[in-house]
Amino acid sequence: MRKKLIVLMFAFAVALTACACSAPQSIEPSKYTISATLSADNVLTASVTCDYVNNTDVPLGELWFNLYPNAYREGAEYSPVPSNRITEAYPDGRSYGALDITAVSVNGKSVDAVIAGADKNVLTVALETALDPTDGVSVAIEYTFKLPKVKHRLGYTDKSVNLANFYPIACVYRDGAFVADPYYSIGDPFFSECADYDVTLTVPAGYECAATGVVKDKTDGEDTVTYNIQAHNVRDFAAVVGKYQKMSGLAGSTIVNYYYHTDSDPEGSLKAAIDSMNVFGEMFGAYPYTEYSVVQTGFLQGGMEYPCLSMISDAVSGDVARDVIVHETAHQWWYGLVGNDEVKYAWLDEALAEYSTMMFYEKAEGYNYTFSAKRADALSAYMLYCETFKNNGLGDTSMDRSLDGYEGEIEYSYMTYVKGALMLDDIRNTIGSDAFVSGLKRYVADKKYEIAEPQDLIGAMEKSSKRSLDALFDTWLSGKIKLYSSH
Ligand SMILES: [Zn+2]
Repeated sequence: MRKKLIVLMFAFAVALTACACSAPQSIEPSKYTISATLSADNVLTASVTCDYVNNTDVPLGELWFNLYPNAYREGAEYSPVPSNRITEAYPDGRSYGALDITAVSVNGKSVDAVIAGADKNVLTVALETALDPTDGVSVAIEYTFKLPKVKHRLGYTDKSVNLANFYPIACVYRDGAFVADPYYSIGDPFFSECADYDVTLTVPAGYECAATGVVKDKTDGEDTVTYNIQAHNVRDFAAVVGKYQKMSGLAGSTIVNYYYHTDSDPEGSLKAAIDSMNVFGEMFGAYPYTEYSVVQTGFLQGGMEYPCLSMISDAVSGDVARDVIVHETAHQWWYGLVGNDEVKYAWLDEALAEYSTMMFYEKAEGYNYTFSAKRADALSAYMLYCETFKNNGLGDTSMDRSLDGYEGEIEYSYMTYVKGALMLDDIRNTIGSDAFVSGLKRYVADKKYEIAEPQDLIGAMEKSSKRSLDALFDTWLSGKIKLYSSH
């Protein structure tokens, strides 16, 4: 995700003074077959079949699925929207989602739908016989979801409908348990494995569909249009639908689409998407997917990344919007291709996305930002943050915290984005740019389609530089570095 907070770092920073056992190699990806109809009054009726493959090294007696839509319900304990931004997210008044799971079956046999988790955020499905490693099982889930009217990942505005985190997705099994964090309002509280998708989405007539994957078929009905979309080995599936204009171009062999409704310079936005795909493909390793879409939509933050799809808030424009496009495109590598637990190690993909954005301006021409200016802004903002908050109980500058370890969006953003980028800049200065970039290439080559942990990034940098970097990373991650410490 890209925060407007960071883009407007200085203005905010001044204003703030007044404020208080790893899994084995994947053998075969699971597959989701989704059939969903969105009505004109924004109710989703869907069936999802997950042909789940046990890629862990232990037999599984049950499966867990994240129920992110349930976080939008009335009475949810963990609101997806921070409490101080409710009015901004719901400009027409508070609106709630309503999830109703109507049927669950395993290999065609009906089973009880058991909803569990810290905030009714998990569907648990018991298996009659334990699923051995490499074996598969088919779980079918039928549900309806009344969408909330909200500028968020899952919801509608007057112009478009965001369909992200809208279906039950298998929880990752790590270290002897399923990971099923609730929907934290800060960061991107998601964690999933790559899978194949075959999605049939029926929406009101006239709606375009920007989605993860490739539209294989489009069929007009009487007052509907149905898209069949397929994606191979992607970490998630999301779509944005609405009445859009569309422009396309090429980045290497990847088709890049830009869907917009209010952009006064759509060519410039499409160029930012194509340029960033080209620069990052060259720096980190070729993008393996056929299409990548960037879509303007109602969204509380600057933007949000999904595999092969980036949402860009229609509240940003010009240079800021292009900067967000670059950041979200960097996430196609950091989070998309190389996955990570975004609750436990939020900095891992956000620091890389933010620093990649800075590096983009070293390579790309025709932009009103430079690497040195962005780096200087980050350094100044971070030092101002430390100075401002050192006496306010936010003097902890460690980055090695899960999302629930941060006081709020401000602390989270300064640690994971700003300090994260400064950390990577220090690593690059220490080992040299060539070793740094080859370390990133190695990290992608070693961990693509998989889940990385911090040690994978540190190890890739150590191998490429032939230096021990544990201590240097640790000073940043644990908040010990003196120059920037608030202590
Ligand atoms: Zn981000």
